[in-house]
Amino acid sequence: MKKVIIISLMILLLFCNEKVEALYVNGEKIDFDNKITTPANRNFAYMIHDGCEYTVAIPAGAQKLMYPTGMTNPIVLWQTTNYQQSKMDFYQENLSNVDYSAKTSFFRKNTNDEYYQMPIYQLNLYDWVYGEITLNDYYMDDMTSNHRSATVLHEMLHVFGLNDLYNQSNKGSIMYGFDNRNTMVMTSDANQVLNDKYN
Ligand SMILES: [Zn+2]
Repeated sequence: MKKVIIISLMILLLFCNEKVEALYVNGEKIDFDNKITTPANRNFAYMIHDGCEYTVAIPAGAQKLMYPTGMTNPIVLWQTTNYQQSKMDFYQENLSNVDYSAKTSFFRKNTNDEYYQMPIYQLNLYDWVYGEITLNDYYMDDMTSNHRSATVLHEMLHVFGLNDLYNQSNKGSIMYGFDNRNTMVMTSDANQVLNDKYN
């Protein structure tokens, strides 16, 4: 009897050890196991670097993230011009020989206290300190303003620890990984992850 209790306790401990329960959408895992470290004031600053012309689309994407229709989440985003404050840096490029309209990279410190760009698999091992979003003007330029801010929202959600969904059945999610997704706003699956990770 005692053995059974100890074993079930161990199993319980194993489950309790899980950081945040993973969220699956139509069988696809929507988030990474880890997340961006939360600033002390729980507010996340973002910075639009020189040469990035999407100074309207980026704040509009931030609004879509903070104030999703009919839903709430704990994220506060604000624009800064101090790069040391920034948790999310926006850059721009113009590349015709790639198939993405935007990309996100993740950074943390190594054991020598130096920042490095994390390979994707590490997003399931360590938290990161900041994210870098690069908007590809080659594709963004042709988009409607609503599509541009949706692209910004999607990339911001990557920084907050969400992953792409590629299953056709997830076309209605803001985390669908292709540009022909069926939504331009925050979806409940993505908003749930923000609440799970940052509340
Ligand atoms: Zn993506």
